[in-house]
Amino acid sequence: MPEKKNGNLPKPKDIKAFLDEYVIGQDRAKKLLSVAVYNHYKRIMHNLVEPENDGVELEKSNILLVGPTGTGKTLLAKTIAKMLAVPFAIVDATVLTEAGYVGEDVESLLVRLLQDADYDQASAEMGIVFIDEIDKISRKSDNPSITRDVSGEGVQQGLLKLLEGSVVNVPPQGGRKHPEQEFIHFNTQNVLFICGGAFEGIDRIIAQRLNTRVIGFESEEKQAIDKDNLLQYVEAQDMRKYGLIPEIIGRLPVIMSLDNLDRKALKRILTEPRNAILRQYKKLFEIDGINLEIEPEVLDIIVDTSIKNKLGARGLRSICERIMNDAMYEAPSSRRKTFRLTAEYAKEKLGA
Ligand code: ADP
Repeated sequence: MPEKKNGNLPKPKDIKAFLDEYVIGQDRAKKLLSVAVYNHYKRIMHNLVEPENDGVELEKSNILLVGPTGTGKTLLAKTIAKMLAVPFAIVDATVLTEAGYVGEDVESLLVRLLQDADYDQASAEMGIVFIDEIDKISRKSDNPSITRDVSGEGVQQGLLKLLEGSVVNVPPQGGRKHPEQEFIHFNTQNVLFICGGAFEGIDRIIAQRLNTRVIGFESEEKQAIDKDNLLQYVEAQDMRKYGLIPEIIGRLPVIMSLDNLDRKALKRILTEPRNAILRQYKKLFEIDGINLEIEPEVLDIIVDTSIKNKLGARGLRSICERIMNDAMYEAPSSRRKTFRLTAEYAKEKLGA
């Protein structure tokens, strides 16, 4: 983290501006995230500079991103790590299991962080971990006495240890712990955990809460609620109802939601981000000395196909691949200096 050494942390506005280059839309989330990340690294610096601090202990704030699949949760976390040049690891919460069960121990995610840091432990201890599908390890009910979903809750308990910041014994080679192995004592105090999940169905819980709350209030307040986008009102208590244990929720104090991407946003994703998909194809052709021209209508075809298949932004690349595959096979051997991607050609390749 070069910015850190000279005490020149990027400010929230700088972080947001960087995110804008890679992530389309999601303005609300980008702002909140920029502030949260800024505060996180400010806290680390404060503790480094003033270890015997003045009594004001800055607490760690991990982050929870709630939003439908393919809206940019992973991309946001990845882009933040890129900007700060800190080690980064992505793990899927569903592969994690309680110690002693088949699957990966929660500590394995620290091994990935160490690997990304080329085993520079000090650097890994200031990295970022993105835990995807955190919603999939929720209990089935918020009443533990009725449905005790042991595996989900057990994993949550395991994660809690990491999230709150503690020294964890990590087997250096990853995998299962062996008693004869030397452990790495990994301190997660300064690791930033960003958790993400779709939390399907949580809108019903939010709606229920909002309804009960507005009873007795003026109807004006009721009207102010945007019923089509309930996710934006998500709060910690909804997470609890959904089945995250209170201790985990307590360690994820920054909660933010991501919006569904509409047609316009999907179209922008194709062309605008620094490493936008269509820019990448242009580059691939350029390397062969070929100029790739894309008819504007092709963008509509790609976006419509993705929406039709309910793939969101996740579908864009594979649709582009289907369209471009033959062209990428033929073009390098042809003498043509320009390849014009027409709507007709795109439709034909998609079998539309
Ligand atoms: P999630 O983690 O929310 O399921 P991802 O971040 O993995 O979604 O997004 C999948 C792909 O879709 C990304 O690699 C990226 O190319 C694209 N994408 C998704 N959302 C956005 C966005 N808001 N801006 C730009 N690209 C996006």
